[in-house]
Amino acid sequence: MKITRVTVYQADLPLAHPYWLSGGRLKFEILDATLVRIDTDEGLVGWGEGTPWGHTYVPAHGPGIRAGIETMAPFLIGLDPRRLLDVERAMDLALPGHLYAKAPIDMSCWDIAGQAAGVPIADLMGGGSRTPRPIAASVGAKTIEETREVMDRYRARGYVAHSVKIGGDVDRDIARIRDVEAHRAENEIILYDVNRAWSRAQALQVMCATEALNVTFEQPCESLDDIAAIAPKHAAPVSVDESLVTLQDAARIARDGLAEVFGIKLNRVGGLTKAARMRDIALAHGIDIFVMATGGSVLADTEALHLAATVSDHACRAVWACQDMIAVDIAGGRGPRNRNGHLHLPEAPGLGVHPDEDALGAPVAVYS
Ligand code: MG
Repeated sequence: MKITRVTVYQADLPLAHPYWLSGGRLKFEILDATLVRIDTDEGLVGWGEGTPWGHTYVPAHGPGIRAGIETMAPFLIGLDPRRLLDVERAMDLALPGHLYAKAPIDMSCWDIAGQAAGVPIADLMGGGSRTPRPIAASVGAKTIEETREVMDRYRARGYVAHSVKIGGDVDRDIARIRDVEAHRAENEIILYDVNRAWSRAQALQVMCATEALNVTFEQPCESLDDIAAIAPKHAAPVSVDESLVTLQDAARIARDGLAEVFGIKLNRVGGLTKAARMRDIALAHGIDIFVMATGGSVLADTEALHLAATVSDHACRAVWACQDMIAVDIAGGRGPRNRNGHLHLPEAPGLGVHPDEDALGAPVAVYS
């Protein structure tokens, strides 16, 4: 089987509500999505998506994905999409780094490989758990009142997992954490996501003040050096997210004991092929996993769900998905959707969901 054509679409995905990170430092209203269709000489078609969370969140942006694909496409034509490692090597040779541009190609090829084998991607990766995965809601709020309001909105839709965005004023962060913990339901999974906003001193101030609550903080400081520096001075469990980009990062975090949770965002780490190695490093070191779409439509959510299904049930915290935050639906209601706060693995071969191609309009690029 050979790749004969790579077709690229762009879609704007507006958020239903404006969204704030870092206690109000960063505002997001619309996501720039790139949808990739790969055609083969045997008639199988695979789809991938790359949707960074805006362009101010991490070093990734929508136009960068499309430029990266333009550079890599000539090296992909003629490859067998089922040979994922060949595809990975071709992309890494054609364009070192730029992992976020490679993720949608990797996803399309996994989709084709799953269809060719007649099994869902998770089963092709070795076996997917059918235990539904809780979806983590994003609670991007600034005040105690807004936090309660957003969490209750998600609870009304069945959500039991919440990523509460903090990292603004330190005193306000402490007050918000205490309020959320005072109102949390027994079965709820809550993680406090700082998105790199704190200095080392600020991180220690909040983490020590809330020590008795034993809550998990995601990416409390900018870098792994910062996280390593504060590690001996607090007792809080840590999830590393934005600083987990390469396999070398994963190895360092595991070896040096810098985190109890890996926050694996598929677009940031370059797709399922690379993410699966991080999963294995985590599991080999007793580290839990929180799998995340970086942003985007139900396609990105489904990719995250496939990886989450290959993590043992006890080690999988949740799946972050943003389908309920996006105001448009490029897949016409198809694919895994929020059912009482959980996502169920699709049984269709491959990814299990494709976009409504007519609704995407004309492609922005075709390589053949
Ligand atoms: Mg995060």
